[in-house]
Amino acid sequence: MEIKTLSAVDVVIVAAGRGSRARTASSPNCPKQYADLNGRPVLSWTLDAFLAHTKIARVVTIIHPDDADLYQAALTAVTVRPTAGLPQIIEAVPGGASRQASVCAGLEALAAAHPNASAHPLPDRTVLIHDAARPFISRAVIDRVIEAISPTAGAIAALPVSDTLKRANPTGAIVETVSRDGLWRAQTPQGFPLAPLLALHRKARNTGEATFTDDAAIAEWGQLEMTLVEGESHNIKLTTAEDLIMAQFMAQSRTIENTRAEMETRVGSGFDVHKFGPGTSVWLCGIEIPHNQTLLGHSDADVGLHALTDAILGAIGDGDIGQHFPPSDPKWKGARSDQFLADAARRVSALGARIINVDVTLLCEEPKVGPHRPRMRQAIADILKIEVERVGVKATTTEGLGFTGRREGIASMASATISRPNTTVTVTD
Ligand code: MG
Repeated sequence: MEIKTLSAVDVVIVAAGRGSRARTASSPNCPKQYADLNGRPVLSWTLDAFLAHTKIARVVTIIHPDDADLYQAALTAVTVRPTAGLPQIIEAVPGGASRQASVCAGLEALAAAHPNASAHPLPDRTVLIHDAARPFISRAVIDRVIEAISPTAGAIAALPVSDTLKRANPTGAIVETVSRDGLWRAQTPQGFPLAPLLALHRKARNTGEATFTDDAAIAEWGQLEMTLVEGESHNIKLTTAEDLIMAQFMAQSRTIENTRAEMETRVGSGFDVHKFGPGTSVWLCGIEIPHNQTLLGHSDADVGLHALTDAILGAIGDGDIGQHFPPSDPKWKGARSDQFLADAARRVSALGARIINVDVTLLCEEPKVGPHRPRMRQAIADILKIEVERVGVKATTTEGLGFTGRREGIASMASATISRPNTTVTVTD
């Protein structure tokens, strides 16, 4: 048999239910998937888990037609920033009268919106179906489900039943103890090859079979092979108001962990030298200082800003000043160096990162830097749009040694620390 590999993974998030059992005093008119969970809607937590996953291509949410505004609010509260390699969000699809009808509508939307059909034809696609009200789904469980799907078999997350099971009569009297051997509690995500699942949903719709409570049941009905992978006990489905109270505690501890896991600190260093020539002033760290010589260079030769620009570019691994502003390009002749530094700061912002602090050391016998230090720090802070207390400017001589000691030029060293999102860590791990 030919071995085929399933490529792109799409996700259907089922958020069309009305969820009246979970309505609380604080959100009486709000279905559970939009209830507040530690400051933002439940659905935004669920979306975060899938939108941070690099194996997923597209995410579509099925919503009740009355919930368009709630959905938009949840989407706004998502914390994962769109980045190359992360999933695309497809416009929400209105759900049907039942969960089954809603999932079917989502599958039809995925089959119809098919921007890259030649690279990922329908038969090679995989789909995960997930309940919006399971916000604590982890990357590990998503991975296990994805790995267990094949072109001919689906997989669901599930947990073995651990409580002893009793059968009772309508008056509450126990009739028997039921063996729990081989019994599992089905969770979501439930994953399938897209084409056969869509075919089964269409068949069920056309033949009036409308009683399936999950997609694994439809797969069983259609004799599509299904396997179990290990779910997680904290992958709970928020059903009652009590569930929401427990979820608040889980969300609070998750938020603290994620803040630590999502950001990482990077450090960069830079070095630059410019030599003296005839002139009446030097540019140093963004300000002009009267002097009996000037610094020679293609631009304004601000040795301090050049070293600092390279330090910031180094911290984000984005080349160096010469690559972005080649000295061979006449456009930069005589240019003010503040624009080089501002460009580096823009590159930091574009990554969702921020500058924690920067530090510049000037190595020279003259001019004396001390009297100008406050203005230099302020100039750098203004260019980088950060607080002045995050900027260090220092100077040293080299005790008369070397080219700086011989007053032939000025050298500068700089370092920069930035905090940036760690895109390799998902928000739910
Ligand atoms: Mg330079």
